[in-house]
Amino acid sequence: MTGVEVRESEGRGLGIFAMHPFAKGERIRVVNIEREVTDEQPLGPEEDPDHAFLSDGKFLLVGEPDRYLNHSCDPNAYVRYRGTAIDLVARRPIETGEEVTVDYLINNAGGDAWECKCRSERCRGMTASSFFELPLEFQREYYPLLAPWFLRQHASRLAGIKEAIEADRSETDH
Ligand SMILES: [Zn+2]
Repeated sequence: MTGVEVRESEGRGLGIFAMHPFAKGERIRVVNIEREVTDEQPLGPEEDPDHAFLSDGKFLLVGEPDRYLNHSCDPNAYVRYRGTAIDLVARRPIETGEEVTVDYLINNAGGDAWECKCRSERCRGMTASSFFELPLEFQREYYPLLAPWFLRQHASRLAGIKEAIEADRSETDH
C-alpha cells in the first residue's frame, strides 16, 4: 500500500488518508477488489456486507485499505472504471494528511438512507438512498463521474440531466 494510510477518522471509525499530495485527476490507487460475492461464494461470517458494493450487476467485496473509504457529501475523490479495474482518482487537489472520500451515491440507484456526519460544508445530513434522489445540482455535478455501466443501465432516467448539460455546453460554445 503506497500513497495512503489507514487511521482513525474522528467520529466514524477508520478512514483512508493521503500520505502525499495528489493532483486533480491523478490516480490515488487501484481499488483492491477481493472477489465477487455470488450464490456459490456468499459472504462468510467474518465478512462485512458494508465492505461490498454493487457494480455493473456484480456484488464486489472490497479489500484493505479501500474498504475504509468514507463517504463525503463533498468528496475529494471518485472511482473510475477501467475495464475490470477500478481506480480511485482525485476529484480535486488533495493535501498530505487529508482524508480521501467519495460520495457513496455516485453509481448507486438504491440503498439505505443514513444520517451523514461527513462535516463538509454542504453535508446533506440525512442522505438520500439513491443518486436519483439527490438534489438536481448534485446530479448534474456528478454526471461526468458516473460509470459507463451506470449510464447504460439508467440511460432513460439520466436523459434529462444529459440534455441539460449538453444545452449548457452549447450555450457556452457559442
Ligand atoms: Zn455529509
